[in-house]
Amino acid sequence: MSSGPLTDKPPTSIAAVHDFGAKLRQPSLVERLKEYVLWQASLRGHPLKEALPFDKALGPERSPISINLDLTTACNYLCDHCVDYDILNTGIRHDDEALKNSLALMADKGLRSVILIGGGEPTVYPKFEEIVHFLKDRAVQTAVVTNGSGNAKILSVAHRFDERDWVRLSLDSGNDATFQAMHKPKKKITLDQICDRIPLIKEKNPRLRIGFSFIITWKGATANNFAIVENIGEIVEAAERARRYQFDYISFKPFLERAPENNAEVVGITDAAREFDETIRRIRREVDRAKSLETPGFRVVESTNLRVLENRTYKEFTRQPKTCHFQFFRQVLSPLGIYNCPVYRHVPQAKMGEKGGYATPADYAGTRARVAELIRGFNATSECKEVTCLYNPANWWLEDLIEHPEKLEMLDLVDEQQDFFF
Ligand code: SF4
Repeated sequence: MSSGPLTDKPPTSIAAVHDFGAKLRQPSLVERLKEYVLWQASLRGHPLKEALPFDKALGPERSPISINLDLTTACNYLCDHCVDYDILNTGIRHDDEALKNSLALMADKGLRSVILIGGGEPTVYPKFEEIVHFLKDRAVQTAVVTNGSGNAKILSVAHRFDERDWVRLSLDSGNDATFQAMHKPKKKITLDQICDRIPLIKEKNPRLRIGFSFIITWKGATANNFAIVENIGEIVEAAERARRYQFDYISFKPFLERAPENNAEVVGITDAAREFDETIRRIRREVDRAKSLETPGFRVVESTNLRVLENRTYKEFTRQPKTCHFQFFRQVLSPLGIYNCPVYRHVPQAKMGEKGGYATPADYAGTRARVAELIRGFNATSECKEVTCLYNPANWWLEDLIEHPEKLEMLDLVDEQQDFFF
């Protein structure tokens, strides 16, 4: 029995960009949704009107719709708040040809979007530009999350992106002193030097959306055995900077820590009432001031995580159904292997295959079986009980559809957005 939200509507705190149920109801994806629901319903013994057109034990012969692609584990910064600190600079690499074969095979099997992210810093990968060309040649929606040090590479491929793609720089600071303290670049680079390139990229391709990402940190937060530099006082300064340098938006989200028991990313703010309230009040005041800087061409975005932290509904997002359905639609491909969720890079119980697991049809056959096995065996209720999971409402909604597959006939389709980022 499912016991979560039962409607097509996610909670109001969920931003449209995180309304994954709606994305699956786009006309271009709805068949993918239906085949998955019918597969899971039949596994649970619900009678179906028609036989499944694929092997019930293995599921639809598909790739994920969206992947986080860690191009490298190497990073040229030493950020104190890095959630991937433990897996950086391992020296473990992709095999370049196998990686391209994997992307080609996945694109053939329905991959629609790739976020180039880390693990490490994607622009450090020597063939970064080649991968962007490779993806755009196959009409795969592409995004980049970068520390800003490789903006010259982004500039060189800027013309390949369209208005559905985006680049987001993780900068987290309003001035260079804080930037240096938080990010510790190994080779000298200043916040101004990073931001200086943004107008050049926008000039080359005004359609490409560029974001300034600001993870809000507070006194007392720790990670990687460091006390984290606090930056709440720079929220407004960072917004002014982002607008001045022609970013399309600045987004604010709360700092995440790693849970010791399973390495999951969790909201690290203490729940002690007074401290919580005071921290949240300060964040709210500064974000509201930043919002007054919005213009038609510049937005101030509050992340879903920040909203659910503030309205204290974040605990609701930690109550997951047993099955995480989104591991079918969105995965992580990294030099360390294939994983079921961005929260679980390199966690053994979340591993779906080796890094070449999509490189050949034979590799894919093994990965497909393992994906089916994890959908069955990975217990999200216990594994993810500390995670403020943005997929939570959509996972519960899928759970309800699987228990009531007749509801597929009454699905509320949404207008096609061509938004395939999950
Ligand atoms: S339930 Fe959420 S946190 Fe857990 S694996 Fe699924 S998407 Fe990731």
